[in-house]
Amino acid sequence: MTHDILLDRYAHLAVKTGLNIQPGQQLLITAPLDAVPLVRRITEHAYRSGASLVTTIYADDVTTLARYAHAPDEAFDVAPAWLFNGMAEAFKDGAARLAIAGEDPSLLSGQDPKKLSRANKARSIAYRPALELITGFTINWCVIAAATPAWAKSVFPGLPAEQALNKLWDAIFACTRANLDDPVAAWEDHSANLARRTAFLNERRYRALKYTGPGTDLMLGLAEDHYWKGGAGRARNGVICNANIPTEEVFTAPHKDMVDGIVQSSKPLSYQGSLIDGIKVRFERGKIVEMTAEKGEDAFRSLISTDEGAARLGEVALVPHSSPISKSGIIFNNTLFDENAASHVAVGQSYTENIRNGSKRSKEELSALGANTSLVHVDWMIGSGELDVDGIMADGTAEPLMRKGEWAI
Ligand code: ZN
Ligand code: ZN
Repeated sequence: MTHDILLDRYAHLAVKTGLNIQPGQQLLITAPLDAVPLVRRITEHAYRSGASLVTTIYADDVTTLARYAHAPDEAFDVAPAWLFNGMAEAFKDGAARLAIAGEDPSLLSGQDPKKLSRANKARSIAYRPALELITGFTINWCVIAAATPAWAKSVFPGLPAEQALNKLWDAIFACTRANLDDPVAAWEDHSANLARRTAFLNERRYRALKYTGPGTDLMLGLAEDHYWKGGAGRARNGVICNANIPTEEVFTAPHKDMVDGIVQSSKPLSYQGSLIDGIKVRFERGKIVEMTAEKGEDAFRSLISTDEGAARLGEVALVPHSSPISKSGIIFNNTLFDENAASHVAVGQSYTENIRNGSKRSKEELSALGANTSLVHVDWMIGSGELDVDGIMADGTAEPLMRKGEWAI
């Protein structure tokens, strides 16, 4: 299959399976400048599916860097609130949302950590109104990725530029099943498998998960009335969509005050242009009280000090070690892929959909059940072929859930 055909299938998959765009619906896309060919395909498929208006906002690495090189110091407390408010407005009016990832994972690695943390904080505060509508699953949304030269170079540093880019595209097409004969049908099967897992976990109603592995001995309490999700889900506007392509995870809400023990990361994580690796943390009653990282320690420390909830967990996800992303053997330096190669947790905001009837409950009720609140939500990977996970029942009995990184159920 030629690259053009694969790209077109991938675009079709994003519109049909990812977004399930509805006739008359607007679509808001954010994308790196290098993703223009993909955005054009997606736009065409969206209009063919009846979209009324497709609007794309592009980001450009060079202009992002120009800010750090030349902008005055005061500039780093500024964020485009007008833009994010406009996005929130669009979602309230029913627009679907597609985010195309593909940024250079270490674009901002050499920049002043104080400026970075101020800029990230300003951005997080301004983005809040739009993020709440996304985490509350108000509208159908999806995140996919596009290979870009800078990203490809970070994944395959030893290869010539063009070869690296092609190899990354091939990996994306394989991990998203876009290279299969009928990707949309393949996703229906895959979603049904994930639904069987979530049905099992929702029926068991574990009180906690216990993790054991190298550098990891963690008792992770689950929120009361927590609800496992995975694969396709129904947004509050009634549209069934797949929020991430690829996705291999089943996930739910931890209890923000009931996580104790130590855990270490198993893969690097790229956060706002900084690469963070070798994280080791200790939790006490839900909060990270000690942390070190081999790489990007400042970035991780600044992330978890964003606000009170940033040092607590908002998501826990189980992913088998044999997932297609993990089997590719590639470390993507991109959370969309790496989080689907390994079991993970996220610090920060939890998803309302991970609490039963979450959207009908007040913020106070959600918090009382153990749901976490923060300006951030950042996943990091803790799973490996050496991790065991037990489900702890209300009476304290343990049931094996994962052994050596694979499902035991
Ligand atoms: Zn996740
Ligand atoms: Zn997450």
